[in-house]
Amino acid sequence: MEYLSLKKVTEQHQQEIDDAVLGVVNGGWYLQGEATKRFEHDYAQYIGTDYCIGCGNGLDALSLIFRAYKELGCMSDGDEVIVPANTYIASILSISANGLKPVLVEPRLDTLEIDDARIEESITDRTRAILIVHLYGRCAYSEKIQSLCTKYHLKLIEDNAQAHGCQYTLQPSLFGAQHTGSLGHAAAHSFYPGKNLGALGDAGAVTTDDEALASTVRALGNYGSNKKYVFPMKGVNSRIDEIQAAVLDVKLKYLDTGNARRKQIAERYIDELDNPKVTIPGADGLHKAQDIYALGDDVWHIFPVLCDSRDDLQQYLRRNGIGTMVHYPIPPHKQGAYSEWNNRTYPITEYIHARELSLPCNQTMTDEEVGEVIRLVNSY
Ligand SMILES: *Cc1c(COP(=O)(O)O)cnc(C)c1O
Repeated sequence: MEYLSLKKVTEQHQQEIDDAVLGVVNGGWYLQGEATKRFEHDYAQYIGTDYCIGCGNGLDALSLIFRAYKELGCMSDGDEVIVPANTYIASILSISANGLKPVLVEPRLDTLEIDDARIEESITDRTRAILIVHLYGRCAYSEKIQSLCTKYHLKLIEDNAQAHGCQYTLQPSLFGAQHTGSLGHAAAHSFYPGKNLGALGDAGAVTTDDEALASTVRALGNYGSNKKYVFPMKGVNSRIDEIQAAVLDVKLKYLDTGNARRKQIAERYIDELDNPKVTIPGADGLHKAQDIYALGDDVWHIFPVLCDSRDDLQQYLRRNGIGTMVHYPIPPHKQGAYSEWNNRTYPITEYIHARELSLPCNQTMTDEEVGEVIRLVNSY
């Protein structure tokens, strides 16, 4: 069993996807057309924001948000952005690539999300934003983070690359549930093929309720132009293409169904995995302690377990025909790209990176396959 078969994911809606692609091919209009408009409209409505701007990929989406805030005078070179130390490197690259300074904050070991109790001590008079990352498909937002943003006048930016469809319940009786991607001032989404909502290539989007931010992001992704051949800003070319938009519009209809299946699988793992060598972070928190997990709903982009002999467990599963992944083997502060941080220690981040193993968890898996993973992990 592959960790994730993109072929099987596509096959679930093969006819509709084929029709969508062919429709664009035969329509003869390949960029900034009707398919893009339709997807941006539908995705904004799904997430619950006023605006959605398609762009080239998830890293561009993050980067365009910071560039736009700089154009709008909300941030300038050397300003600081708080970000979890255990995120995928793209979150951090988007900050440093724009002349801003990433300030790493440790995650919690039970949720694997940024530890909101450690954020305030990292805030300085140069801090301009908190970039939360809904890592593994679980909600990293908390009312505590919201109140820090209010108190220190910070932008709250969400990296929603792994959490399409994830919901947070803000004071249940008053507001009901809200999708991640609509909880802060702006959010970046990736539609990399392996994500819960994946394209057939690169694609991304920014969502926001802020009209000025939306129009600046759109212009920056189009060479800095909001009117043909007029360029008030130095922009880049980062657009979503019509084929990807048409495919994503089809797949968006099935996102909740796919996530529900992931949740069923995850719940079986939580109930049936039983091996003292393998722990499921936050499994108790998920089901028992609402204060830990708040009221966030997990869409299980990744099902992470922790194991002291992770590499050995991975090899054992591979020998028995089960593909797994590690998200991620080397933390950002130990990467060559950030050699200036290599002598720092973030013990919780390092603990996670040394032990994390991602079990297969996606909507194409059969009950038998899930049972096979459970049986093998339990007999390790
Ligand atoms: C995938 C991912 C990105 C980058 O998305 P791309 O579309 O691959 O550029 C950013 N942040 C996180 C957390 C991701 O998982």
